[in-house]
Parts: sequence; structure tokens; C-alpha cells
Amino acid sequence: MLLTAVSAWRGLVVVVGLSLAAEGLYYVISHLKRLRERRPAQVLFFPAPVTCVRPLLLSSPGHCRCGLSHRESALSCLTRLLISARRSLDVCVFTISSLELSSTVLAVHGRGVRVRVITDSDYMALAGSQVGTFRRAGIEVRHDQDTNYMHHKFALIDGLTLVTGSLNWSAQGIFGNKENVIIIENTDIVKAFVEEFGQLWNEYDPAKYSFSPQR
Ligand SMILES: [Zn+2]
Repeated sequence: MLLTAVSAWRGLVVVVGLSLAAEGLYYVISHLKRLRERRPAQVLFFPAPVTCVRPLLLSSPGHCRCGLSHRESALSCLTRLLISARRSLDVCVFTISSLELSSTVLAVHGRGVRVRVITDSDYMALAGSQVGTFRRAGIEVRHDQDTNYMHHKFALIDGLTLVTGSLNWSAQGIFGNKENVIIIENTDIVKAFVEEFGQLWNEYDPAKYSFSPQR
């Protein structure tokens, strides 16, 4: 009788202990999630001044002796963010012709990060598109398959940070036009864009292509 009571007591202690541990874990996860979501969104406005961002792409600190300014700008902020990718960089942008941003994508790829690019089939065929350079470097690029535009302009860094706005990745967009880019880490918004990228990536599987521009 006494042994049964002791066993029941031990069982109760274990159950209560596990419940407290689960509640504690839930609290820690919720707290971390709230901390992430409290990180303020950031907005970049373009056009940016013409500056050189090459030093940001070096794996070790270095200097560039070109004649351009190397001061901070909306372009340097965007470059720092993209180059910070450690696991993945998913780019879904209508026009990609900027030498600065394509060099950044190539540098990320060169560090062994998984890079995937989705773009528009009409604009990837135009002179200046960097799609051919990406493909020659071994980066997989997929494109839409209809006459409507793949008009998104967003990128996902490590599936955790979203960069989105009006900016095409072109010299005209970066150095000429009035454009905006918002950097967001809100988990619900990022999740929606991760799902959109995944859905488009599957939809534009080359096995389903009816045409492919020569790039
Ligand atoms: Zn320079």
C-alpha cells in the first residue's frame, strides 16, 4: 500500500516536472519570437549616390583604390544585407542587370551559400541582363512561362529576412529612379514570401518549360 502511494507520488512529480519544463520552453520560444518581431523594419530609399561597394564583397577586410567614393549609402546597406546570407539567398526580381548587385549575388554563391534566382523571361533576354553570368557561374535561374510579367522585386536572406519594394536590380533603379526597399523580419510576412518563392520555383521547373530565352 505504502509502495503504491510512493509510486503514485513519483509519477505526479514527473508529470508536474514535465509540464513545467514544456511551459518554460514555450515561454522561451515565444519570447525569442517576440524579440525577433520587435526588430524594427528598415526602409531604404533610392536613388543612391554612385559609390563603390567592392570592399564589402571581400571575404577579408580590404581596400579599393578606385576613384569612386566608398561611403555608406542605400546601395551599401542593401549589399551588406545580401552578403550576410549564410545558408540561402533567394532572389525573385523582375530585372537583374546591376553589376553591383549581380557581383554581390556571385560573391554569395562563391561562399558556398545556396543561391536561387527567379526572374522575368522577357527582361532576362535583354542586353545587360546578368542571368547568363549567373548560369555560367553555376547559379540556377528559373523564369516565368507566360506573356504576363514576373514582376516581383524581393529577396530572402536565409529564409529569415525579406527585402522587398519597388527596386529593380538595375543601374537605372539604383542610381536614377525614385525607389523604395523595405527590410522586414516579421515571421508571418517572411513566411508568406518564402511560400510564394517556393510555389514559383516549382511552377517554373525547367522540366515544364515550353520556351526558354537564350541567355
Ligand atoms: Zn572602389
